[in-house]
Amino acid sequence: MNLSKVILDEAYRNGILVPSLNIPHLPMMPAVVQACVDEQSMAFIAVSRVEWEKFEAGGIVDVKRAYDEAVTDTETRSYVRLHLDHVPVIDEDNLQVDYRSIISEAIDLGYDSVMIDGSRLSLDENIRVTAEIVELAHASGVPVEAELGAVFGHEDGPPPPYEEVFREKRGFTVPKEAGRFVRESGCDWLSVAFGSVHGAISEAFRDMKKPDARLDLDHLALLVEATGVPLVLHGGSGVLKEYLLPAFKQGVAKMNIGTEIRQAYTNALRETGSVGKAQDALYERTRYVLNDYLGIRGSREHFRGLLPE
Ligand SMILES: [Zn+2]
Repeated sequence: MNLSKVILDEAYRNGILVPSLNIPHLPMMPAVVQACVDEQSMAFIAVSRVEWEKFEAGGIVDVKRAYDEAVTDTETRSYVRLHLDHVPVIDEDNLQVDYRSIISEAIDLGYDSVMIDGSRLSLDENIRVTAEIVELAHASGVPVEAELGAVFGHEDGPPPPYEEVFREKRGFTVPKEAGRFVRESGCDWLSVAFGSVHGAISEAFRDMKKPDARLDLDHLALLVEATGVPLVLHGGSGVLKEYLLPAFKQGVAKMNIGTEIRQAYTNALRETGSVGKAQDALYERTRYVLNDYLGIRGSREHFRGLLPE
């Protein structure tokens, strides 16, 4: 059985979080990996399509190379797993994406898990496309994350006012649809919307501080009951801390952190002009996120029995 799947199932059953840390700039890789090792935290290292299209991740080959350079020994390998984040069917600019080739290539390269994002499609189309990717990935033993509902932020222009999104439950995943989605698509993990927002990625807004986000934990309970698979929280940066632990206990086993660590890196790079100093700032920030914000220092210990010697 695929180790990433085993790890996330274990996390889900025990109310533990495995964060997924995004790498939009390649020099971020060694600092983020080292922070996971030094906090003894189990984590996914991830890249999404938008991070090589609109940022400087290069592509899946470059990210895999940077990962292999940072993860060289068995000890380091026991802390991190490589994940392909958001490969949209229709992207943020409303263009069709050749998602199938990107995902096949990632699987061939050795990515441990993949995500197909059909959240801009109708429910039926999203189920169809996800089922197609599940068939493709499972043939290689690779688990698939899918998305249902809308986690705002990847659109062009300013992000929608947060209070309005939350009050009107705008884009929130509908529990009944989520149940059907998981049954019919066969996805392993599901990204759901219940209060978080993505960091803005459009050029004009990407350096903006994210709003303090809340989570609708009652809504989460309905999603957990309807789906029965590990749930994923996207747009993790900026969620108020008091909502996190209850969400992990309820069924959020994976949470994506992008904006917070990206801005730590790019802000320091802008201020100092030094990649080394930016990496230092990123390393400190990632340790802070793992230990202080998420409270998962030492989490690798929970999974030790599952890891190969
Ligand atoms: Zn996301």
